[in-house]
Amino acid sequence: MRTPLVAGNWKMNLDRRAGVDLAAAVRSHLEGLEGVEGAIYPPFVYIEEVARACAGTALAVGGQDICDQEVGAFTGEVSGAMLRDVGATTVLVGHSERRHVYGETDEKCALKVRRALASGLKVCLCIGETLEQRDAGQTEKVCSTQLHGSLNGLSTEDMGQITIAYEPVWAIGTGQTASPDQAGAAHAYVRGVLSGLFNQAVADATRILYGGSVKPSNAADLLSVPDIDGALVGGAALTADNFLPILDAATEVRVR
Ligand code: PEP
Repeated sequence: MRTPLVAGNWKMNLDRRAGVDLAAAVRSHLEGLEGVEGAIYPPFVYIEEVARACAGTALAVGGQDICDQEVGAFTGEVSGAMLRDVGATTVLVGHSERRHVYGETDEKCALKVRRALASGLKVCLCIGETLEQRDAGQTEKVCSTQLHGSLNGLSTEDMGQITIAYEPVWAIGTGQTASPDQAGAAHAYVRGVLSGLFNQAVADATRILYGGSVKPSNAADLLSVPDIDGALVGGAALTADNFLPILDAATEVRVR
């Protein structure tokens, strides 16, 4: 059973006050909704305060990244245990900005996924092709390679802690959204890869979110596509005016 999930990636935006206020608005709105789960990913330094504001509610709070090592001399990094310690229950791995701005490979993502699971964190693994790759007809190959590389060595049980976010790089922060047909085709393909990598039960149970310029005006159309189980939202997650209507749109989606 796949309950729709709407997740907000704040990236390096907002300040402490704005973050806590936004989290409080999302938390109380979510409390009035049924059939949708929510998550927010604030910058590391605000996680503790935001998590405190959301404690005991259905709104999960997570990190935008995690170190692939457990502990030690890794200046600037944040471990899974530290994320747990400040109240995070989930973490993004392999966001396109990590892959393309900071050069993270699938091998690095695989280490981070395993480290997150070992720390008791859920994982939202991001995958997706660039515009050049799409134009070259490589969308499926890229998604397959990223899934194989990043989920390498996981058990079917581990997959219970994993959500996939299909985020075409050309649609992230550009205002250019994948059409429901484009996104639906990619999601169906991703589900097929999960079936091959694990089994059909895992493929049927794993949520696959769409990310890439989701906003109130296009959320309902995207979320009505059968294989789209929610959204990972960047820009539109930064204000309650934009994010709350996307949560509302997800409540229209029947649990699958
Ligand atoms: C993201 O950063 O994951 C994202 C989808 O951003 P945006 O919604 O702004 O395209």
